[in-house]
Amino acid sequence: MGTQPGHCIFCDIVKGAAEVSVCYEDTESIAFMDIQPVNAGHVLVVSRQHFESFLDLPKSLGTHLFEVAMELAPAIRKVSGADGMNVIVSSGAAAGQDVYHFHIHLIPRRQGDGFDVRLPFAEADVPDRTVLDMTAARIIGALRDPTRTRPTPRQSAAVP
Ligand code: 5GP
Ligand code: ZN
Repeated sequence: MGTQPGHCIFCDIVKGAAEVSVCYEDTESIAFMDIQPVNAGHVLVVSRQHFESFLDLPKSLGTHLFEVAMELAPAIRKVSGADGMNVIVSSGAAAGQDVYHFHIHLIPRRQGDGFDVRLPFAEADVPDRTVLDMTAARIIGALRDPTRTRPTPRQSAAVP
């Protein structure tokens, strides 16, 4: 199940070269059951084209994948009978990403299921308002940066 350098298990799945249980597909995306679900009904929404992470994803494709996730969520809730749902994207090793092919987790949740993505983070301090304001201002500045780009599908290399 792990990832070997230069090999992408989700590209294998998209190509039909690996076993998978598909619950949705269209020309740009595919959604399938996570092989190690947190709870029954844990689904991954995946782009057919290989992009490593959220930061590499073209905006139009990201929008489409989140639309697919929104379409699937009520069906997953119905089938799983879940009380709640986590929609999770882990982007980069520091954020816990294991498979470097962008995906959205749809995780049906039950009280007491033991999975923990609890926020606010109990170990985090509450910063002074000036610190929050300053960080917000820096983000606003970065959004205005004319060199800011997102890759288009043609710019991003697919895994062979
Ligand atoms: P990440 O930590 O990258 O957000 O999560 C990767 C997810 O992919 C994990 O929940 C893991 O169980 C799932 N996964 C890894 N390999 C396979 C596979 O071969 N097939 C399926 N269906 N899911 C996989
Ligand atoms: Zn891939």
